[in-house]
Amino acid sequence: MGGALRKGQAVRQAPEGCPQGRRPAESAQKLQEVQCEVTTETSQTGVSVQEKQIGGHEKTLKAHKEDNPQSLLEMNGHTAAPHSYDYDLIVIGGGSGGLAAAKEAAKYGKKVMVLDFVTPTPLGNSWGLGGTCVNVGCIPKKLMHQAALLGQALQDSRKFGWQFTEEVKHNWMTMTESVQNYIGSLNWGYRVALREKKVTYENAYGEFVQPHTVKATNKRGVEKLYTAERFLIATGERPRYLGIPGDKEYCISSDDLFSLPYCPGKTLVVGASYVALECAGFLAGLGLDVTVMVRSILLRGFDQDMANKIGEYMEEHGIKFIREFVPIKVEQIEEGTPGRLKVTAKSTKGNEVIEGEYNTVLLAIGRDACTRKIGLDKVGVKINEKTGKIPVNDVEQTNVPYIYAIGDILQDRLELTPVAIQAGRLLVQRLYGGATTKCDYVNVPTTVFTPLEYGACGYSEENAIAKFGEENIEVYHSHFWPLEWTVPSRDNNKCYAKIICNIRDNERVIGFHVLGPNAGEVTQGFAAAIKCGLTKEQLDSTIGIHPVCAEVFTTLSVTKRSGENTLMAGC
Ligand code: FAD
Ligand code: NAP
Repeated sequence: MGGALRKGQAVRQAPEGCPQGRRPAESAQKLQEVQCEVTTETSQTGVSVQEKQIGGHEKTLKAHKEDNPQSLLEMNGHTAAPHSYDYDLIVIGGGSGGLAAAKEAAKYGKKVMVLDFVTPTPLGNSWGLGGTCVNVGCIPKKLMHQAALLGQALQDSRKFGWQFTEEVKHNWMTMTESVQNYIGSLNWGYRVALREKKVTYENAYGEFVQPHTVKATNKRGVEKLYTAERFLIATGERPRYLGIPGDKEYCISSDDLFSLPYCPGKTLVVGASYVALECAGFLAGLGLDVTVMVRSILLRGFDQDMANKIGEYMEEHGIKFIREFVPIKVEQIEEGTPGRLKVTAKSTKGNEVIEGEYNTVLLAIGRDACTRKIGLDKVGVKINEKTGKIPVNDVEQTNVPYIYAIGDILQDRLELTPVAIQAGRLLVQRLYGGATTKCDYVNVPTTVFTPLEYGACGYSEENAIAKFGEENIEVYHSHFWPLEWTVPSRDNNKCYAKIICNIRDNERVIGFHVLGPNAGEVTQGFAAAIKCGLTKEQLDSTIGIHPVCAEVFTTLSVTKRSGENTLMAGC
């Protein structure tokens, strides 16, 4: 790489000024970065550079207004800094957020590099460019969820007149190969897109070694140094392990599941949130014997009324739940693909110990931010020592002004692909396009792709009560029966719709929850309405589309407070 520095070369850059033509917003940002970088303070009154006082607040502000902080530096005897960074922006992590930001920056004519590297799982699996969502997250998960739904559709289809005599079986290998082929095409597409946009991509592990400098190490161990004016950390998270005997040797995580080269067989899923319940759901839908081991509650942080309904539905559809137990040991009884494993688990409430045999143990107990091995200490970026997450301000800037962070590694932000993408794009537009719009992390819709899908936006019922007081919220709800499910006579009154309204604010809808088919599709549109300030009255005056599930939201009349029946009788 032409601009790469030799190891050991002094790379500390003197702060550079605003090149001619830099937009005011970029200039202001730059000024703050220059000031903060050289003084390591995030707010300034007196300003000094390289231990020399260059002026106080007034002078600095004047230089800023004149869009020329460099003049201030030169005025005070500092020589002009050469614009000698290799890149304008280096993005560490080529996942949802990193790729979106890199491509956006290239649109502004910036010189951009993306470093992406996948550290193999303990079982040795790794994948291509695109990050978690594409390779081991949203995409394979949703496709395997679809595989499970098709199994249900096959059963329903007999009632609709389809006749097929052959035994219906599912082939795990056919499914994973199809899914992996599709993922391969996405990986390729990302590489092409980066090339077309003239973003330099290196399949290498990035870590800071000194200010403005990263070391990139490729899989052959070749190291290179690169410098940049700004950095974006978007390294995402990786699955957590239990730290008990046998976990890394014998258990798999979602990072292994979607490319598993054999059917997992009888499976124990440990964990009770998004990843655990989604994976348990589709594995059971494919006909496998599935047990979920729950430490405490289902879907912590979500509306518990909805979470419990999801659990009931899964149980009714053959998924077993072991509640308030955690594994303490995993042993191999027999090698194989799959082999046989013995799991010993202990009650979280007492000393009871149980044992069970499974072919596969899938750990889905959360994910850890990839921030501890990227040299953040070398450049002074603060992390939350307990969680490894990076705190940022409302413009995704870390405590080191030239270093930004987005996506799953952020403290107190949502871990969702569209959130990472939106934050990355808006950040770049602010840095290079003079834009001011910040990422709005409020009322972000989400869907849990359990067998009965759950879409949500805004407050859970318990959080609304805690925030506004029970007397100030009105909850409207109803069960419903999708028309498509009536002919096969299944799951009557399992689907459920609920909105939470703030009585003191014109019955504004502050929480939206739906359990039913295509919940994500349903929720997306209502999320836009909620962003526009949707009220109950506006929902009531919206004419429904018949016969669809979402129309239930235009006719909600039963309040939870009334205790009236919410079961649907007809259409
Ligand atoms: P990532 O996409 O994780 O990308 C980070 C990249 O950086 C990775 O490629 C990583 O290997 C690389 N990297 C790490 N360290 C370095 C380094 N030092 N140098 C170079 N490269 C590095 N979200 C949804 O919105 N909808 C869903 O349905 C959904 N389903 C999910 C299902 C599962 C099983 C999982 C695990 C997650 C799911 N998510 C879903 C969450 C979603 O995948 C993440 O929120 C999203 O991928 C985060 O994007 P990111 O850019 O922060 O990180
Ligand atoms: P998570 O939300 O952090 O949940 C971790 C689960 O594991 C919880 O149920 C937790 O139980 C349990 N757990 C933690 N430590 C445990 C232990 N030692 N033993 C047993 N159980 C333990 O993690 P996740 O499900 O991996 O999801 C990560 C993120 O990915 C989510 O926040 C989400 O944003 C994103 N994601 C999104 C989607 C989607 O959009 N559809 C899908 C998947 C993932 P407790 O409640 O007792 O702590």
